[in-house]
Amino acid sequence: MNTPDAQFRLGKSLVVAIDGPSGSGKSSISREAARRLHAAYLDTGAMYRAVTLHCLELGVDFSDAAAVERAARDLDLSISTRPDADSVRVAGTDVTDAIRESRVTEAVSAVATTLGARSELIRRQRQIIADSGHRIVAEGRDITTVVAPDAEVRILLTASEEARLRRRGDQLGGTQTAEQLRQQVVARDAKDSTVVNFRQAADGVVTVDSSDLDFEQTVTAVLDVVRSVSHQ
Ligand code: C5P
Repeated sequence: MNTPDAQFRLGKSLVVAIDGPSGSGKSSISREAARRLHAAYLDTGAMYRAVTLHCLELGVDFSDAAAVERAARDLDLSISTRPDADSVRVAGTDVTDAIRESRVTEAVSAVATTLGARSELIRRQRQIIADSGHRIVAEGRDITTVVAPDAEVRILLTASEEARLRRRGDQLGGTQTAEQLRQQVVARDAKDSTVVNFRQAADGVVTVDSSDLDFEQTVTAVLDVVRSVSHQ
């Protein structure tokens, strides 16, 4: 496909940083925006999840910050940045599905709030952005503020709590009770926001509220921001 978006800012830096709470649709929207821009795609949440899975498998005590940091540093992680290839590997083993299990979702905030583990992952994320040739859509919780504050485009993708609970429930195929969903969306965001602010847009960050938008409308809204901001 050779759309105008695919040609956009070719040969120039185009880092699109997207943050937002869980259930905001960040991953699927960012992946699709990356496809249309012919850009790489980085799901930073998958990296926190991979460290968490690794800790669970090694039996690392999450309250031992030094051990969690060591696990993050030692992790042999490879993550695909092709928007059409969802693949996460740890020491050569495919963990793409395993990192989405609820035991990982329930424990991941413990890794995210371990500052030594965060700085290691932030270092790796900046390297991945550089390796993409600076044509990438990177999404998470602190991309607009910490990982890539100088990105050409910075977006906070939000949605009402009701919309986020509904979307996460649909994503998990109705397998979770209302209380489990609350834990995985609302309680997790509360824990995560003790170390990163993804609830309010920082200066210069454009908010896209997807509560009343469908998938296609949200992708369009994000690409409109990309075109308007990076034309300047
Ligand atoms: O986006 P996802 O739900 O897969 O993220 C999993 C977890 O990774 C979040 O709940 C948060 O604890 C952590 N995370 C983070 N900073 C990021 C991305 C994710 O702390 N940039």
